[in-house]
Amino acid sequence: MQDKRIRKLVIVGGGAAGWMVAAALRRHFQGGPIEITLVESSEIGTIGVGEATIPTIRGFYQQLGLTDIEVMRATGATCKLGIRFNDWVREGQSFIHPFGLFGQDLRGISFHHYWRKLAQAGEPTDIADYSLGASLAAAGKFMAPSRNPPSTLSIFDWALHFDAALFAQLMRRVAEDNGVRRIDARITKVNLRPEDGHVVSLDLHTGETVEGELFIDCSGFRGLLIEEALQTGYEHWNDVLLCDRAYAAQSEASSDKNGGDPMPYTDVSAHSAGWRWRIPLQHRYGNGYVYSSRHISDEDALAELKAAIPDPLLHEPRQIRFNPGRRKKVWNKNVIALGLASGFLEPLESTSIALIETGIEKIKMLFPDKDFAPELAAEFNDWSRREMERVRDFIILHYWANKRGDTPFWRDCNAVTLPETLRRKVELFTQRGHFIRYRWEMFQPASWMAIYAGFELLPDMVDPALDGIDPATLSAPLAEMRKAIREVVAAAPLHGAFLDQYCRPAPMAAQ
Ligand SMILES: Cc1cc2nc3c(=O)[nH]c(=O)nc-3n(C[C@H](O)[C@H](O)[C@H](O)COP(=O)(O)OP(=O)(O)OC[C@H]3O[C@@H](n4cnc5c(N)ncnc54)[C@H](O)[C@@H]3O)c2cc1C
Repeated sequence: MQDKRIRKLVIVGGGAAGWMVAAALRRHFQGGPIEITLVESSEIGTIGVGEATIPTIRGFYQQLGLTDIEVMRATGATCKLGIRFNDWVREGQSFIHPFGLFGQDLRGISFHHYWRKLAQAGEPTDIADYSLGASLAAAGKFMAPSRNPPSTLSIFDWALHFDAALFAQLMRRVAEDNGVRRIDARITKVNLRPEDGHVVSLDLHTGETVEGELFIDCSGFRGLLIEEALQTGYEHWNDVLLCDRAYAAQSEASSDKNGGDPMPYTDVSAHSAGWRWRIPLQHRYGNGYVYSSRHISDEDALAELKAAIPDPLLHEPRQIRFNPGRRKKVWNKNVIALGLASGFLEPLESTSIALIETGIEKIKMLFPDKDFAPELAAEFNDWSRREMERVRDFIILHYWANKRGDTPFWRDCNAVTLPETLRRKVELFTQRGHFIRYRWEMFQPASWMAIYAGFELLPDMVDPALDGIDPATLSAPLAEMRKAIREVVAAAPLHGAFLDQYCRPAPMAAQ
């Protein structure tokens, strides 16, 4: 019988996406006969941003045999308990979206119904006071979550802020140590098979030709194979996601809000035509202004960013342009696109690297043979589309729900027509306090809760199962929950002390 198994896998691109998939697949095939070659061009370089993650990244590198501490030391990382949104609701108002739960469900009824009932009875409390993750973050503290949490009150999770270039280098080291072959050359031509249009080989500027059976396109926004060669098409979402440009700049780690300690969260502040990120690393800060080119000129955006960064810049801000949307098919013929080549929403909520991780999981699950059964690609494309749409909806919510109304940008965000999937979610929550969960959701109900509460989108009614409960009886148990969290936070170390103990010395870049 003819052996149809894929033996030659070629990855195009050596940014985070390329090296993550190279490391993960080499490990997945455990020394099997598949050859993995990665072609990248140091002349072209990588996008060089992408420093905030969500907790799934930790599971990803743990599967590669790396520990948190190893990764943090190698990439100058700090801990991220969530995201702090400043001035998004209105100027001067902040809230935190933590990675973790709020309060404790009782008798099968979600906690937020008890919390609302208490508020409706005249005792409003801040939902963040029921979240250990949010409370640690607000206090600038960090501790690792307990492996056996004594109660759901102590459930929280964490992610990293890391140096994107150092992370890609780390992934490269893991991949090469396990046998991935790297070629540093510019691809000048993608050769297609005339019968079916599959990619058969890549011509390099060195004169060499690289042949493959399956190609993973991690070439960044341009999509060298998936778009330039296969002309797959792109679905634009700029009618609902208005930001399309960013200026990014690194700055010295000389000041922050946390008394000299790096804050254990990503800071994202609303500006006149978008928002600004501030990401603490051990050795510097990452900063950037994500904005809508329809609402502000590049010059004004640059000036706004520079005026807002409190510490000396390490270089002039660099502009990046992007088109929010997704590739119509991420798997087309024998090419699978991953990373920016597959689409990009925008940096809010740090989902791009997480989508690389889930893309890799899908590649492992649906790995083809040389027949390339169309059902595999169809399933892959369906899962990817749904997942990306769910993330899109979550991000739109942040903009649409703002109550600023002070600039045309924020007013236009309020006026966006919500996709049907999001409209139903918001209505069900605000009317009944229920969450809808679709398949392929990256964000759990607790994350939706954080954003709904942060933007004051709260249910009109509480669960009727609580109609028989006297609200006065809720005051004491909810106060107990807040106290339990305050006590844990009081005993936790400052984030800087945690880093000093476990995560230094300085990263490779500073050596
Ligand atoms: C402003 C901004 C902020 C972001 N912030 C975050 C964040 O906080 N968190 C997050 O998760 N994500 C973030 N992202 C996304 C994140 O940067 C990317 O998902 C991640 O870096 C992966 O990029 P990539 O590997 O797909 O592409 P790239 O880094 O662009 O790599 C492309 C590779 O293709 C190679 N290449 C291209 N053409 C050729 C050719 N002809 N020949 C040979 N090689 C070629 C290049 O050399 C390079 O190695 C952000 C993105 C932007 C734009």
